[in-house]
Amino acid sequence: MARYIFITGGVVSSLGKGLASAALGALLQARGYTVRLRKLDPYLNVDPGTMSPFEHGEVFVTDDGAETDLDLGHYERFTGVAARATDSVSSGRIYSNVLEKERRGDYLGKTIQVIPHVTNEIKDFLRIGAEEVDFMLCEIGGTVGDIEGLPFFEAIRQFSHERPKGECILMHLTLLPYLAASGELKTKPTQHSVKELQSIGLAPDVLVCRSEQPIPDREREKIALFCNVRQEHVVPAYDLKSIYEAPLAYHRSGLDQAVLDAFGISPAPKPNLSVWEDVLDRLENPEGEVRVAIVGKYTQLEDAYKSIAEALTHGGMANRVRVRTDWVDSELFEREDPAPHLESYHAILVPGGFGERGTEGKIKAAQFARERKIPYLGICLGMQMAVIEAARNAAGLETAGSEEFDHEAGVRRFEPVVYHLKEWIQGNHVVARKVDDDKGGTMRLGAYTADLREGSKVAEVYGTNVIEERHRHRYEVDTRYREKLENAGLCFSGMSPDGRLPEIVEWADHPWFIGVQFHPELKSKPFAPHPLFDGFVRAAVENSRLV
Ligand code: GLN
Repeated sequence: MARYIFITGGVVSSLGKGLASAALGALLQARGYTVRLRKLDPYLNVDPGTMSPFEHGEVFVTDDGAETDLDLGHYERFTGVAARATDSVSSGRIYSNVLEKERRGDYLGKTIQVIPHVTNEIKDFLRIGAEEVDFMLCEIGGTVGDIEGLPFFEAIRQFSHERPKGECILMHLTLLPYLAASGELKTKPTQHSVKELQSIGLAPDVLVCRSEQPIPDREREKIALFCNVRQEHVVPAYDLKSIYEAPLAYHRSGLDQAVLDAFGISPAPKPNLSVWEDVLDRLENPEGEVRVAIVGKYTQLEDAYKSIAEALTHGGMANRVRVRTDWVDSELFEREDPAPHLESYHAILVPGGFGERGTEGKIKAAQFARERKIPYLGICLGMQMAVIEAARNAAGLETAGSEEFDHEAGVRRFEPVVYHLKEWIQGNHVVARKVDDDKGGTMRLGAYTADLREGSKVAEVYGTNVIEERHRHRYEVDTRYREKLENAGLCFSGMSPDGRLPEIVEWADHPWFIGVQFHPELKSKPFAPHPLFDGFVRAAVENSRLV
């Protein structure tokens, strides 16, 4: 049975709980343990699938098709353990399960209450897969004291109480603000935050204190005394230049030692940190630099494309270069020629997206990349835009477009080269969706297999002919246009095993122009960069040598 580490936050939000959890997971792995990481989110949305990426950041899709919080992306990037649907839950999902059971009569007419019905539902969730790993790390979103979070805190209190002693610990992250005027780090907010935990029956075993300034020993002593935590278990967390420093930095601060100590594991197995030393070496000692333009719509908020930014960094690490990215608003190209805006970049990436706004500009960016022979990676919508560009400007289908935009506008304007997918094959069965299904869950989601054409660029990039990648989309390139497009030079180099769904397109006479219907960025890791991002950055490096 797994040991449980609950991770909570206090004082302010955005302290980096997700990163601390992910780094701790990586450190436990480095000591030979198996881990699984989970996120419990207090918000009432049933899943993050329909939440605005402006507000909530990217939706991270798992192999088994769940739309989850971007923190699961961090977990995967740091531990390499593929996240699953059962690694993420929200209050909304918990309540929805409880209400469903109530409607079904499962509770036999009992009065339904937060304690025990909601807390039992949370505890059932916590127990899933407990047999499979040595450590289960469960991060509670939000901050202690948030009204929505209370059932989660109560559930972990009960859970820890019910398990044998020493099998669950609580790690709490706080902030030590620095007052420049008095030149002091203040510990009072941390004390209050721990009091808040204590008032609901929880006591931290390990305190992680974020601070911009070095934490003097006497302050650690004070925190230990007032918060009833051992001094060695007060772990400092300083600002980092890169998130990938976190495992080594937390190791230096003694986090993994404190955690194993709190469990009474002694002597602790020695860690092997060579993977992270190599990651950091590649990151800190680049031998060159390339510039990549990301042409998209949600350019205001980088979190909306978190995994793409990370995957590009990994691609840079694989090639020992620094990748500088600029986020370029595609709407600009609807008014202006893209050339002066894109000329200085070594490669262009058009990411996924929804809705018509900004798409004409993305099509222009794809055209620019094709004509100027600049490396192009089109992801999901970015692939669809490349296909529309090919149809319009190379295959003579001048009115080519996507049904998505006609649906949105309520008028028929385009020849639907990209059309709404209503049924498809998953494994051995057919999945069917109606246009007017609920907004959540109408997409082709999760891992699907694709067959790559022998001798194609992608087959070379992947080094194999069969791949599995994660999807999140409603629309598909229509194979009825395949012949026309292939005659124009756009090769359909990756297809679903039944040959019905185009997964990858590439221009045969271009140094590196690839569009993929899936999201490769979700599977890239710093210690195992995704082949497409490795190849894309390599193509950018080669292009940079030409200019
Ligand atoms: N909007 C497009 C679709 O649903 C693309 C989705 C995406 O880029 N993730 O097919």
